Amino acid sequence: MSKLLPDIDDLTQPFWDAAQQRRLVMQRCTDCGAFVWHPQPWCRACYGQRLAWQPLAGTGELFTYSVVHYAPLPGYADEVPYVLATVRLTEGPQMMTNLIGCDWREVRIGQPLELRWEERTGGFLVPQFTPV
Ligand SMILES: [Zn+2]
Repeated sequence: MSKLLPDIDDLTQPFWDAAQQRRLVMQRCTDCGAFVWHPQPWCRACYGQRLAWQPLAGTGELFTYSVVHYAPLPGYADEVPYVLATVRLTEGPQMMTNLIGCDWREVRIGQPLELRWEERTGGFLVPQFTPV
């Protein structure tokens, strides 16, 4: 069994297209400057509809996390325990992701993280993070 691949729609297609080129991007409102995540048709801060995809550095720090001990799906059985994390990106917005390449017992709030591209079925790339 393999890990999940995303359901991609018109709204999320640009994010996943960029990801396949190992580029992390996020929508940003051209009216008020707010980042928008997950992808939305409008800005949650000002309701403006002029959003552009901005590249992100792929660095940040651990804002919060939980440790998953029971695999939610068979494809995750070899992964547990794993860390489900909220990363505060260097640019400011937060995104939920998994931490990879680390021991969950050594994870600490505030620790610096950086992007890693996890290759799933068919070579599909998914952004994950790892402690620096
Ligand atoms: Zn806005």
